[in-house]
Amino acid sequence: MIPFSPPHIDDKIVEEVVAALRSGWITTGPRTKSLEQKLADYCGISRVLCVNSASAGLELMLRWFGVGEGDEVIVPAYTYTATAEVVAHCGATPVMVDARPDFLIDIEQVQAAITPRTKAVIPVDLGGYPADYDELFAIVEQPSVRAQFRPNGEVQHQLGRPLILADAAHSIGAWYKGKRAGAVADISVFSFHAVKNLTTAEGGAICLNLPAPFDAEEIYKLLCTYSLHGQSKDALAKTQIGNWRYDVIDTGYKCNMTDVAAAMGLVELERYDREILPRRRAIFEQYAAAFAGDSRFQVPEYATADKTTSYHLFLLRLAHATEAQRDAVMQAIFEQEVAVNVHYIPLPMLTAYKQRGYEMSHYPVAYDNYSREITLPVYYDLTDEQVAQVIAAVKKATDKVVGAK
Ligand SMILES: *Cc1c(COP(=O)(O)O)cnc(C)c1O
Repeated sequence: MIPFSPPHIDDKIVEEVVAALRSGWITTGPRTKSLEQKLADYCGISRVLCVNSASAGLELMLRWFGVGEGDEVIVPAYTYTATAEVVAHCGATPVMVDARPDFLIDIEQVQAAITPRTKAVIPVDLGGYPADYDELFAIVEQPSVRAQFRPNGEVQHQLGRPLILADAAHSIGAWYKGKRAGAVADISVFSFHAVKNLTTAEGGAICLNLPAPFDAEEIYKLLCTYSLHGQSKDALAKTQIGNWRYDVIDTGYKCNMTDVAAAMGLVELERYDREILPRRRAIFEQYAAAFAGDSRFQVPEYATADKTTSYHLFLLRLAHATEAQRDAVMQAIFEQEVAVNVHYIPLPMLTAYKQRGYEMSHYPVAYDNYSREITLPVYYDLTDEQVAQVIAAVKKATDKVVGAK
């Protein structure tokens, strides 16, 4: 069986994790701080805070911005539940908009969805392909949008417009107009979950890129505290002789990254551009070459003059197929010992969102993308021979269900 997305665990990772375990310091400490600095350098920004998941990072930043009851946050219908769930956790309303055929959030629909209650927009770099940030910033910076923005608290007052908070769970290493993912939106949050391009088993990172006069250093310090119960000193600082007294400045959260996890991340980041991304790119190119010339398939857009993906998910679509036919093609692929997936079942099709009144019929493009989509395996350890096997399995399954080329 060719699995869908096994983690790349080698001796180097094992040795670094063991070194962290033997170091005498296993929770947030020197390795986490080092990973934060290296991530900031990698993205070309001054400050990154590591946390224990992207979901926690997104929620922490919505709360930092003061999003709450009565507020609206615009999210795409075509994403993983985490993007909208964090909005609901804050007591605010996720306002869903449709996708475009390139899977990204529909800019015109964002414009139409803005109201005086809109506090943030959470675009998703789906599959690692960056959303259209210049267009999103143009929307939130319009004088009419600024004029109707009703700030609640100091932070919102300082920004004076809705926040662009990128769900960059997939897009570490992607490029947008000469900038790395992480250095484009006001705030971007990466995920280091086990299936993501760069993993710490579970983990995430918050990239701070707010405009002046926001001070990244000051916000970083505040977030360190908020990610650790609102406690004024972290556990490492408290171990210094005589440094036991602490205060709690607010009711905070608990979402710090451990040094055991950071040990994995340090190894992964060090070889990410040199080894991981080139391999993922080569696999994307093999898939694109194999399916582009066959009119039964639609190959995803993943690089233009302005944007380059992080090669996270290869979102193949059948050119013409019903949802049932797609399901049958997937079944026939599985029967050939190849694991594939669907990214994503749009949120309005899921029970939790249906119960809240979201209706799939309002998101026709998201449905169309979903109903024809099959995600192919992409990972460092997938060999060229296995890539050929995946391609053959997909074509054979399509022959069977849809008909020959
Ligand atoms: C994985 C994922 C998340 C959540 O990441 P965690 O680190 O698991 O919290 C959020 N958004 C999208 C689009 C994801 O794929």
